Amino acid sequence: MQLNFLGAMNRVTPSGILVDTGKTRFVLDYGADVEHMPPKPPMAVDKVDYILLSHGHLDHCGSLPMLVKKNGCPIISNACTKELTELLLLDSVKINMMEAGDIEEAKLPFDKQDVKVTVKKFVDFKYRKPLSFKNTEIIYYDAGHIPGSAMILMKIDGKTLLYDGNFNTIDTRLLAGCDQDLPKIDYLITESTYAQREHPDRKSQEKELVQLVNETISNDGVALISTFAIGRAQEILLILDSYGIDYPLYIDGMARKSTTIINKYKNLLKEPRSLDDALKKVTYVNGDGMRSKIIKRPCAIITTSGMLSGGTVVPYIQKLHADKNSSLILTGFQVPGTPGHTLLQTGRFVHENSDLEVEMFVKRFDMSAHAGRKEIFSFIKNINPEKVFCVHGDDTKGFAEELKGKGFDAVAPTVDNKIFNI
Ligand SMILES: [Zn+2]
Ligand SMILES: [Zn+2]
Repeated sequence: MQLNFLGAMNRVTPSGILVDTGKTRFVLDYGADVEHMPPKPPMAVDKVDYILLSHGHLDHCGSLPMLVKKNGCPIISNACTKELTELLLLDSVKINMMEAGDIEEAKLPFDKQDVKVTVKKFVDFKYRKPLSFKNTEIIYYDAGHIPGSAMILMKIDGKTLLYDGNFNTIDTRLLAGCDQDLPKIDYLITESTYAQREHPDRKSQEKELVQLVNETISNDGVALISTFAIGRAQEILLILDSYGIDYPLYIDGMARKSTTIINKYKNLLKEPRSLDDALKKVTYVNGDGMRSKIIKRPCAIITTSGMLSGGTVVPYIQKLHADKNSSLILTGFQVPGTPGHTLLQTGRFVHENSDLEVEMFVKRFDMSAHAGRKEIFSFIKNINPEKVFCVHGDDTKGFAEELKGKGFDAVAPTVDNKIFNI
């Protein structure tokens, strides 16, 4: 078989890999790099027979309409990922239309209609149930990253290739850790997001976060929790619920729709009723009038986006930035160049026409849904593959070198070294 890496090489985004078995051409993920305008797709690829989608995050699914338009190929995925992908793609189109305006070259190469066509191409898989395509057998395993996420195993002419997509080995409040009872793997394509970084202790992060929310509310402030819509918002809700919610709690922005979608797929959650129970204590926010009203009293608000680069967190910061009693809680990694990163560095919120001094108490927590350094290494050690391909990381070369030092045959594909016959 031949592997042709199309993106996320020595970078975290956008994911895309062509696997050519000689009989069938599969593309594993086809994401978008949203740091560019318009979001950048992976390298171009043609004659695609099937797309195998690992999960509904934009860096993995954000350019699917481009492949579907060109090839009309089915997307093997599940119903939860299908709905999350539709939500994200429609949001991309909406944001891009607002930002690009009349500038032709800033426009996305697909529209709402293309998203509709793409969504119709989804074909369901069931975890751990093999699917056959000529000389290839494919099995999706639970990746424990976000609801519906998968690691994709391909058996081709007696050799096995595992693409772990994005994965997490440990249990979170929302999800159980990934499947670890896997068959023998010859080749592994692994994400490297946290390969060089350990996560802090999850329990103490949870406790600190809950303590900060409670303190803010007892100081008559608003605890504004900025989060990614998919997975993270629901995880934060379950953390707050597990410590007891005795204050008004709101959800705003895209987190409302994503929570509704995720709660439809209860069997994917660690505890199927957990979101139902927590949502009894939540009010969804509708419109700016309601936003102005709720922040007059102490409360907690879970809202998007995770790096402050847009979404409903923006109007809240504009209203609350000078309130010393309120807090702004970031719940994930802040990519350099994003308003969230700038805020942590300078204390200022710089976004479009806003440049505001933020007097709220600002704190970032690590609630990652990716395996940390020690988990990645022990995952690879357990699998013990013949060869490891390192992608989806800031320093995949350094990671591959480290794996070599531990006796593995490892490589970090680059733009100049991206095709491998194995
Ligand atoms: Zn992801
Ligand atoms: Zn990713």
